[in-house]
Amino acid sequence: MNDIVDILSSRSKLCLLTPLGLGEAGIESATGYIARCAEAKNITPQTLIEGAIFPQVKLDANVDFQDSYRATLYCINGLAPFAQRWIPAIEKLSKRKDIRYLTMLPWQGILPWNGLVSDKRRWCPKCFQEAKDQGKIIYEQLLWSLVNVKCCPKHLEPLAMKCPYCSLSMPTLASRMKVGHCSRCNGWLGSRVSSTSKPNAQEIWNAKIMGEWLSYNSHADDATIIRPNGSRALNIFKPFGLFDLSDPQYLSEIFGVHKNTILKWKREDGVELSSLLKGCYALDISPISCLPTMPADPDGLNFYHGVQVLPKEEILINLYQTDRTTLFRSIDHFTLYLCNVTLVIKKMGCRPNVIRESYPHVYKLIKDRFDSVRPRCIEFIRTKLQEYRDAPERIYSMTEIGLAMKMNLRYLRMVAPDICSQISKRRADYEARLYEERVLMQEKSVRECCEELKAQNKLTWPRLISTLSKSGCLRNPRLKAVAASYF
Ligand SMILES: [Zn+2]
Ligand SMILES: [Zn+2]
Repeated sequence: MNDIVDILSSRSKLCLLTPLGLGEAGIESATGYIARCAEAKNITPQTLIEGAIFPQVKLDANVDFQDSYRATLYCINGLAPFAQRWIPAIEKLSKRKDIRYLTMLPWQGILPWNGLVSDKRRWCPKCFQEAKDQGKIIYEQLLWSLVNVKCCPKHLEPLAMKCPYCSLSMPTLASRMKVGHCSRCNGWLGSRVSSTSKPNAQEIWNAKIMGEWLSYNSHADDATIIRPNGSRALNIFKPFGLFDLSDPQYLSEIFGVHKNTILKWKREDGVELSSLLKGCYALDISPISCLPTMPADPDGLNFYHGVQVLPKEEILINLYQTDRTTLFRSIDHFTLYLCNVTLVIKKMGCRPNVIRESYPHVYKLIKDRFDSVRPRCIEFIRTKLQEYRDAPERIYSMTEIGLAMKMNLRYLRMVAPDICSQISKRRADYEARLYEERVLMQEKSVRECCEELKAQNKLTWPRLISTLSKSGCLRNPRLKAVAASYF
């Protein structure tokens, strides 16, 4: 009881500790901060809360309510009404204005409050261990309490949820909690051992993006940064935002939500974080990419992922993010004429290796589309060639078909070698037949000529040559032999 009296009599000295990690991905959590402050005062978090914080909350609310707050204490990391009541009380007691940054309160009105923070304590054992080994202050990160973050973006390890000693999980803020230690058995939660399970690519991406997101927390009061022009962050969906001109139907497929939800998001209505992350991951863009403090282009050039992109590549990436119908149309068009995805990307004026390495999502989409459309393209070309092959009115040559289909012959022969050789054979047979007919006719006229001249007794080679309408035909040995037989 003496502890409580002591705290109450010196409220202004309640928490003089400075919150850690402001402006960084690893910003401290409000629950961790309370535990750290209690530890510094050599009291338990429960004493601190019951003796000082809760009375202040009641005082501010101006009602004498018996709140059963224990089960909801974890909520102070979030932005629910609970945090909206408790955080100002803690700020008042500690005479600090930056406690709200240790919560999701800066994103009030942007993110919905439910399902945002975890009621179970989660941590990265390697972060704890690293701080201890380097003699730094051990503290708990806000990032770890976000439900959508499943791994540490720094160590790429899954977040731990159970004590390695007693195998129990624990509440985010327990009554006797010590930072970095199990609140049940007091065991040390840090570890140098890597986990056997590894997070997947999307989990790593989510953790990195949310870390980047939290690094904006301490700019929350600067209206020009998070709420430019009275609008709000995440204006990728808002007027002049990235998706402004996009079809809601298209976005609904990408983000896996109903079309009306997209329209709701555009009206600045609670964006559901897991859907937002899912869609942004699929599109390979950051949900906070529209915030103005993102590094500016030094020379007006466009750098993404550290690569300078060409204008056509920028168009391609924009299409990928905003208008896949047009992108697909373009891919389909080139797929008809080109035999692999690298050539398709080249034909679009982009560098295949840049797209493949810096925009794996874009590359994968183009490749998947190419692979799915390709069989139909080949089928189309084959059907067309078969029509030419079987045309009753005319026997086409490959050159004529290539011109008509506007495709080069080498490509056609590669796509349909069998049909092309059938066409060539048919044409060759036809030409041989024509030749045979022509020679037979010429033979006939040579015979007639020879017989006539012989009858007149005027058969000489010069006479025969000048009489024949096509004298050149005698260069054909077969016709020459026919003529010779009359001499
Ligand atoms: Zn870590
Ligand atoms: Zn334990």
